[in-house]
Amino acid sequence: MKQVFFRSAVFPARYIQGQGALGLLPAWISRLGHKALIVAGNTAIRDIVPGLENKSEGGFLAEAFGGECTVKEIERITAIALAGNCDVIVALGGGKVIDTVKAVADGLDAKTIIAPTIASNDAPCSAVSVIYTEEGIYDHALYLKQNPNLVLLDSGIIAKAPVRLLVAGMGDALSTWFEADACYRSGSKNEADGHCTLSALNLARLCYETILQFGKEARESCIAKTVSPALEKVIEANTLMSGLGFESAGLASAHSIHNGLTRLPATHSYFHGEKVAFGVLSGLFLSNRTSDLIAEVYSFCEAVGLPVTLEQLGVINPSEEDLQTVAKAACAPSEFIWHEPVEITVEKVVQSIRKADEYGKAHSRK
Ligand SMILES: [Zn+2]
Repeated sequence: MKQVFFRSAVFPARYIQGQGALGLLPAWISRLGHKALIVAGNTAIRDIVPGLENKSEGGFLAEAFGGECTVKEIERITAIALAGNCDVIVALGGGKVIDTVKAVADGLDAKTIIAPTIASNDAPCSAVSVIYTEEGIYDHALYLKQNPNLVLLDSGIIAKAPVRLLVAGMGDALSTWFEADACYRSGSKNEADGHCTLSALNLARLCYETILQFGKEARESCIAKTVSPALEKVIEANTLMSGLGFESAGLASAHSIHNGLTRLPATHSYFHGEKVAFGVLSGLFLSNRTSDLIAEVYSFCEAVGLPVTLEQLGVINPSEEDLQTVAKAACAPSEFIWHEPVEITVEKVVQSIRKADEYGKAHSRK
């Protein structure tokens, strides 16, 4: 029987963002359950956890994150939550802590609170965890039963995080509309097991417009470690709009080219969003976008400090074989690149990456 797809969209149950918002955490733990396990990165354990007022009924336990979202780490945190009788699991940190906590809470049917300390990716709102091997290599995507119960985002903390992380978040957010538009035009499946809704498509569009208009100013406030209206808007774009956009509208060539780029060891020290941004640039040529749009996206990347050449991703003078490796991986049968509304071949992807790199070199010389 042919599988029928309905229009489908998923959301976190609640989203709260603002300077000082983390102060609401104890009250929300009490509202959602009895006792929490807070999983946090080392910096957060040292700098943030001691300042949290422990006024929830059963209090909370805090555990330092092991560093990678692996099956073993998920099992370790699950055992701690079970032994401590915790019914609310809180992530306080970046993407890997968040993905681990979402997987633990899903397995235990516990409530989930996501408190990101950086805005470098769109993991907080979604119902998917990316699982890695012990060696830090991508293993699989784990689709969860539900989106988080609460995403609690303190802009004061994000403002103090390194600016490169906020910029990487804009790189991930930059892909949202291009991929949503591809899925909508080709009628492809989104990450919520359905077709793109108009709501998700328009949030994706708003995500693009927001970073384009406020990205540079947000970057400046992050450098100055102050919360400004522009920074608030970009945090929302990087986290909420990008999260809802990618999950409920869908992914396409930018993320597949990112996945291909990860095959080149030189790119390993670069963030997800930085590689995704170059995937967007390549996708502009792959899907024959207008020269005005191409110029607009390159100018944005340069204004905020996203890479526009392969060299800016650590790949210096790539061989034909390197580009073939990237393009072949990007064109694997399970990849999102097939959601593009144009014909895809490995050769076309190689050409698009070359064109994106050449355009970036010429543009940055200006
Ligand atoms: Zn992404």
